[in-house]
Amino acid sequence: LLSKRLQAVYQMVDKNTRVADIGSDHAYLPVELLETNIASFAIAGEVAKGPMSRSKEDVDKFGLSAKIDVRLGDGLAVINENDEIDTVVIAGMGGILIKDILTRATEEQLSNVKTLILQPNIGEPLVRHWLVENNFEIIDEDIIAEEHHVYEIIKAQKVNRSVSLTEAQYLMGPVLMQKKTPTFIAKWEHKLNSFKKAVANMHNAKVIDQEKIAAMNQDIKYIEEIL
Ligand code: SAM
Repeated sequence: LLSKRLQAVYQMVDKNTRVADIGSDHAYLPVELLETNIASFAIAGEVAKGPMSRSKEDVDKFGLSAKIDVRLGDGLAVINENDEIDTVVIAGMGGILIKDILTRATEEQLSNVKTLILQPNIGEPLVRHWLVENNFEIIDEDIIAEEHHVYEIIKAQKVNRSVSLTEAQYLMGPVLMQKKTPTFIAKWEHKLNSFKKAVANMHNAKVIDQEKIAAMNQDIKYIEEIL
């Protein structure tokens, strides 16, 4: 039922959790989590009416309506304290949108949340910055390739102390840098080549955007150190 990408997200969810899947679309993830007894309860949150009503039908069809609540709403507004949600998943969106959804969450909405599982399609460093600024420690990461796209999945846990990452870790992911899987290496070899080409092109075109060139050269250095 699940795509390779959603399967990787699913693998990050701990057993016996109460999960909110924000931007759930078809509610595939909550259905799988409840069908396989990983989660004990789930909210499928969705801002768009169409997907929300389709999800409701699917959840009913699977006989899961007592365990999955499909709710229409913006971001974490679908959660309240009584739901005792401990795990929030936000997958399949850009990093800017994920960060925006998290930034707009109230303290009450996040009060019981221990674990965040985030899968930005792009803009992963933005997401890691939000986590660090809000005392979430990255405890696991995964990287997978599906249909010519590489996806990263970030799992973080709320801690009672400040956390920090190096610039290289924001860029490439602290756990992914350790795991150094073939998919990780392929992604960063590809990026390295395109950054080098971009810098060369800027020199050739006599574009003197020193700041941009310096930033790219910095990223090139980080990547070369890790690969
Ligand atoms: N999470 C699923 C996945 O990973 O396959 C669906 C991803 S889909 C590309 C993104 C979904 O997020 C869309 O259904 C969209 O309507 C929903 N969405 C976008 N902004 C949202 C927000 N602020 N609150 C809730 N859902 C949102």
